[in-house]
Amino acid sequence: MKTVRVYRADTIAAASHMKNVLAQYEISAEIRNDRLFSLAGSIPIGESLVELWVKALDFRRANELVKATLDPISKGKISIWVCDKCNEEIEEHFAACWSCGAISN
Ligand SMILES: [Zn+2]
Repeated sequence: MKTVRVYRADTIAAASHMKNVLAQYEISAEIRNDRLFSLAGSIPIGESLVELWVKALDFRRANELVKATLDPISKGKISIWVCDKCNEEIEEHFAACWSCGAISN
């Protein structure tokens, strides 16, 4: 099963929290780099962040949940727009359709 990184946290606590949030939506996530984290300071910062990985199939939903969780103002209120060209539903923070590349109007 292909997995993709959905979130990077600067603490294990933050990554664990996000993992729990996803679990509530029945998305299983895996924390990676949690051991590397103890080396923070001796390796480049980008490589010491704790990462949360999900199955590729769950990525879109997980990504929405991560964004909604990080942004309390929009929590639970993710708006979508519908692509004129292919009728795909796109989250409002994307300016272009992920499916066909058409630009939002
Ligand atoms: Zn489209």
